[in-house]
Amino acid sequence: MDTPSTGAHGDVRAASRALATEAVHAGRDDLARQGLHAPPIDLSTTYPSYDSRAEAARIDTFAADGADPSGPPVYGRLGNPTVARFETALARLEGTESAVAFASGMAALSAVLLALPHPRHVVAVRPLYGCSDHLLTAGLLGTEVTWTDPDGIARALRPETGLVLVESPANPTLAELDLRAVARACGPVPLLADNTFATPVLQRPAEQGARLVLHSATKYLGGHGDVLAGVVACDEEFAGRLRRIRFATGGVLHPLAGYLLLRGLSTLPVRVRAASANAAELVRRLTADPRVARVHYPRLGGAMIAFEVYGDPHEVISRVRLVTPAVSLGSVDTLIQHPASISHRIVDAGDRRASGVSDRLLRLSVGLEDVDDLWADLDRALGDPVPRGTRREPAFVSSEAGA
Ligand code: PLP
Repeated sequence: MDTPSTGAHGDVRAASRALATEAVHAGRDDLARQGLHAPPIDLSTTYPSYDSRAEAARIDTFAADGADPSGPPVYGRLGNPTVARFETALARLEGTESAVAFASGMAALSAVLLALPHPRHVVAVRPLYGCSDHLLTAGLLGTEVTWTDPDGIARALRPETGLVLVESPANPTLAELDLRAVARACGPVPLLADNTFATPVLQRPAEQGARLVLHSATKYLGGHGDVLAGVVACDEEFAGRLRRIRFATGGVLHPLAGYLLLRGLSTLPVRVRAASANAAELVRRLTADPRVARVHYPRLGGAMIAFEVYGDPHEVISRVRLVTPAVSLGSVDTLIQHPASISHRIVDAGDRRASGVSDRLLRLSVGLEDVDDLWADLDRALGDPVPRGTRREPAFVSSEAGA
């Protein structure tokens, strides 16, 4: 058990608290002492101070190592108390020292890449979310990428490699990696695990050796489809680097988004477990359905399903009525999308297919509706029975590393 220490909000750190307790209390432990129940939203962009010598000292300290400036805030781009509550809570859930929030998942990934020493060489495993793949492939931030399979990570490392980047379960195939083995293969090179799909409810990559844990907080952490955000949970040294990049490049999270994310975290364990139970039942029904060629579902569980249909996937999308045909995921309601058309459209078609993203693949983000209502909608959307004589492949594929 950790010795209790003081967090960003005077929280008493109690490492023995269960995840469900942390989800509700982390980032809020000071509220009762302040006579508050709901966390306040601080919308200030700037903060008055009659002591500019003290402000200069705080800015110097921040510029040196990116540590959260002590004392009253200075300017919204340096840090915001409402956003800091979300950061404190997420770090607690992921089991890291710190977390740094950004305006979106892509802003978070950009900050990580900008924080790497030059020359910026990255080793990455496909599939990744389409835009993450594109950011690396296009070298927009001056990075060079080597794509490899999980077994090739150690061989792909160079003296100048600054980062290894993986997603597990991966978007959209739900391929899973042995994060411990990946972390071992990385040696001293920082491993970034995108934990957007699993959330800390199902998996805590930092415990398995990942130095950086990234979320598109737009998804399960927010959980209601109304916040765009990103966050990186990591050690305090890397967090300092990320805060300095955030200060200089401006990809800050709005305080209202910070408030909504903190609220979202409090129901995260309940939402993820309930949606996962729905997903497991839908996996069972899809696997048994002759119109479905393959179902991908992680061993880890979760509320994301990918499946391939014999028919036209665009027709399935056009026929849903209860399920929303939309990109994104992790909301209380169920969403379906065709990765080859939307989330992974920007990836070269050859690379996309080679990483297992077939043109027949549909990605379902299962929500909290009644499972029979969801099945009734999917059943209708899947359309007519497959004509006799169509060859069926084994329907269920538990997603394997690199598969
Ligand atoms: N990582 C994963 C796994 C994602 O699915 C996404 C978005 O879909 C991102 C990162 C990027 O996040 P955002 O859309 O919040 O910028």
